[in-house]
Amino acid sequence: MRRSDLFATVSKESVSDADCRSEELAIKAGLIHSYGSGTFGYTHLGKKVLDNIEEVIRDEIDEVAQEVRMNLLQTSKLWKESGRWKDFEGEEFFHFKNRDDKDFCLAATHEEAVVGMARKFVRSYRDLDFTVYQIGRKFRDDHARKGLLRAKEFTMKDAYSFHRNEDKLDRKFEEMMEVYRRIFDRIGLEYSVVGADNGSMGGDTSREFIAEAEVGSDTYMKCRGCEFGTKNLEASECRECGSELEKVNGIEVGHCFKLGTRYSSSMNLDFTTEEGENKSVVMGCYGIGVSRLISAIIEQSNDDQGITWNREVAAFDTAVVLASEEEKACNKAEKIYQDLSEEEEILLYEGEMSIGEKFAEADLIGVNRKVIVGNNFLENGVIEVEDRTGHTELVKEVAK
Ligand SMILES: [Zn+2]
Repeated sequence: MRRSDLFATVSKESVSDADCRSEELAIKAGLIHSYGSGTFGYTHLGKKVLDNIEEVIRDEIDEVAQEVRMNLLQTSKLWKESGRWKDFEGEEFFHFKNRDDKDFCLAATHEEAVVGMARKFVRSYRDLDFTVYQIGRKFRDDHARKGLLRAKEFTMKDAYSFHRNEDKLDRKFEEMMEVYRRIFDRIGLEYSVVGADNGSMGGDTSREFIAEAEVGSDTYMKCRGCEFGTKNLEASECRECGSELEKVNGIEVGHCFKLGTRYSSSMNLDFTTEEGENKSVVMGCYGIGVSRLISAIIEQSNDDQGITWNREVAAFDTAVVLASEEEKACNKAEKIYQDLSEEEEILLYEGEMSIGEKFAEADLIGVNRKVIVGNNFLENGVIEVEDRTGHTELVKEVAK
């Protein structure tokens, strides 16, 4: 991608109405555009970051679940069956009547929808076990603040597992926890695993993945020695490794629930056992706040220059920066750009801005590696390869 072709809205101005560092940087770096009231659009840069995160999630979760897609526009029918229509009505829920005076809502969550889909197919124990997931938008009439951390329209990965019994759910739950650890490790997030209060989601056992960040709305006790965390603010010692616990704030980025039969019993998702008995399907559900992860990563990975995310997440891992107007340098930069582009998408800065502006922008948007073709090339035939910490290597040829 040539910088001159990139639709980007990188801003040199400070962002005055941002209420945390991640929102400020996401807007300044031109990743997102705020339409107001917790609704956002993604520029090409922001969409690439979101896609990169989704790609890591799919890559890991496709091993253990099948991707589906459910409806965003929902009628009240299934919600009334589960008994949650009245819980949500008037609260964090966009609901309205259409011209036929029927109740509709925009999906805030999909337990009802997935049970509605599953009960068409599940008849006997032979139809179990299975796990489905989707990555898509959700809507909540929340008090929007802190950019993507709390938005009215956001992207989630939600998965649902269906089992013959609790043992099988327990095994799936542990498997999903491992998948979550791999996902968060790959995108460079530091997190704790915290036992949680289930709130209105139902079920009896759950684990939250919380990323430490000062702006986070969850306060918990975090172990410095391992992944353990607890919402019990009285606790002082880690029950896993014995290290001291520290009171910190964090952002909830993932949540695994054992739902049990909370939805299957109220919505008649039953199956016939091998012995011919009729039983409710045992369920688990597993969420990741995908768009929120962008903010969580930025909160943990930034410096004075901008965003410092890793190569799995960065919109562009490498930028080729032309730092001379000489034709020889232009040709070399073009050649390197063409060569490197065979492996991955590269950002090429040509003559459109000053050298200082090119460096500042690349650092702001979180480019990890700058390949600089300038005076050092013209005088000594070498290319400068600078990483995000400012460490520079001089090379004859650039490794892909
Ligand atoms: Zn510990």
